[in-house]
Amino acid sequence: GWDEEQDLLAGLNDAQREAVTTTEGFVRVLAGAGSGKTRALTHRFAYLVEELGILPGNILCVTFTNKAATEMRSRIHALTGDNDTGYINTFHGFCVSILQEDSHAVGYPKSFLVLDNADIDDMLAKIYEERGLTLRDMTYGQARDMFEMRKLVQQPDYYKELIALPLASLKEKYDRAQSKQDILFYGYLYEEKKCFGLDYNDLIKFSLHIFAEHEAIRKKWQQRLEYIMIDEFQDIDEPQYRLMNVLCGWHKNLFVVGDPDQTIYTWRGASGRYLLDFDTHFPGTKTIFMLENYRSTPEILSVVNSLITKNTSRIEKDLVPVKEHGRKVVCHHAGAASEEASWLAGEMARLHAEGVAYREMTVLYRAHYITRSIEEQLLKAEIPYTIYSGVQFFARREIKDALSYLRLLAYRDDLSLLRVVNVPKRNIGQRRRKFLTEYAEEHGLTFYEAMQASIEDPIWKGTQARAFLKLVDDLAEVSTGASVSEVLAEVLDRSGYEAMLRTEGSQARLDNLAELKQSVREYEVSCGEEAGLTDYLAHAALFTNQDAGDPGDKVRLMTVHTAKGLEFPYVFLVALNEGVFPSRKTRTPEAMEEERRLAFVAMTRAEKGLYLSDAEGLNIDGSMRYPSRFILDIDPALLDFTAPLPERLVRAARDFVRASARRLSRQAEPPALHEGDRVTHRVFGDGTIVAIDHEKGAYVIHFDELATNRSIAFRVKLQKI
Ligand code: ATP
Ligand code: MG
Repeated sequence: GWDEEQDLLAGLNDAQREAVTTTEGFVRVLAGAGSGKTRALTHRFAYLVEELGILPGNILCVTFTNKAATEMRSRIHALTGDNDTGYINTFHGFCVSILQEDSHAVGYPKSFLVLDNADIDDMLAKIYEERGLTLRDMTYGQARDMFEMRKLVQQPDYYKELIALPLASLKEKYDRAQSKQDILFYGYLYEEKKCFGLDYNDLIKFSLHIFAEHEAIRKKWQQRLEYIMIDEFQDIDEPQYRLMNVLCGWHKNLFVVGDPDQTIYTWRGASGRYLLDFDTHFPGTKTIFMLENYRSTPEILSVVNSLITKNTSRIEKDLVPVKEHGRKVVCHHAGAASEEASWLAGEMARLHAEGVAYREMTVLYRAHYITRSIEEQLLKAEIPYTIYSGVQFFARREIKDALSYLRLLAYRDDLSLLRVVNVPKRNIGQRRRKFLTEYAEEHGLTFYEAMQASIEDPIWKGTQARAFLKLVDDLAEVSTGASVSEVLAEVLDRSGYEAMLRTEGSQARLDNLAELKQSVREYEVSCGEEAGLTDYLAHAALFTNQDAGDPGDKVRLMTVHTAKGLEFPYVFLVALNEGVFPSRKTRTPEAMEEERRLAFVAMTRAEKGLYLSDAEGLNIDGSMRYPSRFILDIDPALLDFTAPLPERLVRAARDFVRASARRLSRQAEPPALHEGDRVTHRVFGDGTIVAIDHEKGAYVIHFDELATNRSIAFRVKLQKI
């Protein structure tokens, strides 16, 4: 651990020591999972501060998850005793810092809102209602994906409109929009701008824009950031790379660490090339390799090495074990998912009886839906568990409501007001909210102002509108000079929110609120006294469930993506089946290699014990389940099978994998045509390409003679007309 460490360099190997002490210039660490990259990075931060006397505020340290950032922040805090822990953050979190200081450069107030999915969904609900769309036209999730695609790929300059256009022009674009996609996109931009909201994509784009347009601001940040360090560099995407490139432009002290075998976000635009080509982009780069693996037993390492060598496009490097021998990796084949889950529960109970705490056991899976059967069996076996992914903590209704109250106090924004004005019930239903919207629009007011201005209107009769306004004012008064946790307690009490949950008997929701209070207190401890309400809100908006404190002695369940960078004594990787892991959505040979890397990430989380399992049955699309190719990839001599895999099943699985490989290489063809192209189909006749579905590898075509659109695979010949 950190605390007991007197000498910063003790407890590091030579390569790590070199990484820590080579502070100047461009440095890259290329090393495998569990080789101590993150450890080197944290020590380097401390070394800069303690040994070289660099101020924490002049160091940018980018972590991949908020959890990692929070951990590092409290370590640095403990070490320096200073509240100024510098910029230890995710890229998005750091952009919030930039914008809080300099958003005036793009005409946004300091109090801009960071939007998360639930906020976006609230906006979508409004747009759907206004334009008569339903979830059958597009789900919220699909709409959000569409926004992301459009912002990242199709309209990378969208933010210029968002910045430059006055609200009225955005509204006009929205009103004039014809296609569903345009309606939603411009409706969303309009709603965003109206509350000065920024989503994750905007945060980086806005920061880049400010740096491009305002030399003085750019210089200020460049000069401030004397040292920049980035963890998990193999998953950096283009905008992040550009941002980093700008930021290190003055001092040119850049330290990056990564493992090409753990690139798992290319589907979201990340590219492992930035890590591999780093030395050509930054001449004079010093590259450090770390070969030992400190995390896992030799048994686990030989299994993961055996798996990852099946990828064809990779740089060869094996993980060399340092740890003592342990138990062989266990592999279990079950006849059904419920049986797999009960086996899992049995193994956990056995480990527990041997003295292993539940918190040391983690279940990893490829997709959220897998948890249902596992949860059932864990409940039955009375094994306590907690889910780290699924509905994310900060996206849960009660948490959003509580935060909306806080936001309302800080910003008096429309989104928050709409969310809480009738929770608990104040008899301010749909009709009155509509009145409020129209009144606000008509008079150019915010909803809050509109409510104040119209409070004498008969429409408010029989409601608690007046009481609500008073509540907001009273709470705002309380909040000056109080800590965030005090404000939160007052809000939940005076608003009647907690009382409402007690009446409803919603214990789980009350527990979540208690957890929220706890996380606020932790935040206050890690940031020191001066952490204000707006700081906390910006911070919370970037949070995900994994940051919600220690759940106690419970088994943890999470997706592999969530587990990235973490480690656990015992890992159960479940549902290793074709169609689940690898995902049935895998469309190209490259994507299949990414799935294998993902399996590699999952297995390399394990320290002492690794359990692999699969189950027969059907996938959610109705297809047959076969044992995953990732099980078959591993040399069977390295696995301890609870029972031999049935011969016929292995054969069938291999046949299936071969057929799927053929299908993949066929589908790998990129689209040759574009949206808007007119084409002729052999059977359906003439039509227009209205969209391109990259995931399915198909064009969505509106044929002149057909009432509904059809998806046509890329590989089918279409005549362009
Ligand atoms: P990943 O690629 O999975 O993110 P990593 O390279 O970042 O892995 P770390 O998380 O830094 O690896 O380290 C893995 C484990 O090994 C940690 O528990 C860490 O404390 C331990 N460790 C790292 N370096 C050493 C060392 N020199 N001596 C002993 N233990 C070490
Ligand atoms: Mg790491």
